[in-house]
Amino acid sequence: MSKTEKVIIVGSGPAGLTAAIYAARANLSPFMIQGEEVGGQLTTTTDVENFPGFPDGVMGPELMDLFIKQAERFGTRFLSKNVTKVDFSTAPFKIWVDEEEHSAETVIISTGASAKYLGLENEKKYLGRGVSACATCDGAFYRDVPVCIVGGGDTAMEEALFLTRFASQVYVLHRREEFRASKIMAERVMNHPKVKVMWNTELKDILGDGKLVKKVSLYNNKTKEDSELEVEGVFIAIGHKPNTDVFEGQLKTNSVGYLETEPGTTRTNVPGVFACGDVQDDHYRQAITAAGTGCMAAMDAEKYLEAQEN
Ligand code: NDP
Repeated sequence: MSKTEKVIIVGSGPAGLTAAIYAARANLSPFMIQGEEVGGQLTTTTDVENFPGFPDGVMGPELMDLFIKQAERFGTRFLSKNVTKVDFSTAPFKIWVDEEEHSAETVIISTGASAKYLGLENEKKYLGRGVSACATCDGAFYRDVPVCIVGGGDTAMEEALFLTRFASQVYVLHRREEFRASKIMAERVMNHPKVKVMWNTELKDILGDGKLVKKVSLYNNKTKEDSELEVEGVFIAIGHKPNTDVFEGQLKTNSVGYLETEPGTTRTNVPGVFACGDVQDDHYRQAITAAGTGCMAAMDAEKYLEAQEN
């Protein structure tokens, strides 16, 4: 086992890396277990136009590289592997990466959230070859062809509108006959000439030629009819799942599975363990808000360590 760290940060998106910058500058010499998807969700995006400080926009992967460089400059150490087990029952806290055991006086969790999928066999088969959970990342590949998007929340609305820039037709498939999305977004979608909303419609299968998607099979749960629809792109926008599996049974979560933090802080129910970014935020889910809570987590950890020493 290696020496007990002052702080281990788990996860390497905007939240974790901001926590690393602040912790490193506070001389806590943070050790970051980045996960195998280094940089988090932004590395799967193209243009980021709403991150302050970049008036001309910045590419997601480039932005995350800059975060990493800044964290590195002040002495953050990195391991690009996934955490496989944790034990937060007593301090120092234990974190395993396969057989390798690490321990820390404080832990900052910033493992983010991942897009949810429907769970269809062909969804996996055609992922990246017609199936996507990120219109912003992949929409431009579908110029002048019909696509569909599954979901009725704000993400589905936002992505459907984005897709109208490229696709010849955008079908919005929703399992009910009312959108969950805000009225203004829903109206924009329903009034768009390139969008056709299909209510009470469930996506049953994704069909292709073995290489690319060609059509989808649908079920109308009101009329009980099956049908097929020709599309070349299938976008799934049915929400996100926080990446908390490895912490199950160790930390309190809220009713939708996100890590619970004390209001206005990043403190979890275990003193010394902090959570920041999308793993504890089911509402804002922005890079800038994640970065903000990352800063808070590092300051909360620093304060906790100070109190332990006195
Ligand atoms: P939501 O949970 O709000 O919506 C998910 C949608 O997917 C719902 O319409 C749901 O249907 C549908 N769905 C869920 N599971 C399935 C399934 N297995 N099969 C078919 N359909 C399914 O997630 P979002 O990602 O849309 O939004 C998350 C949060 O982020 C919200 O608070 C939202 O307001 C916010 N947001 C805000 C934006 C903005 O303000 N610009 C942009 C994007 C998100 P049903 O309605 O029947 O449950």
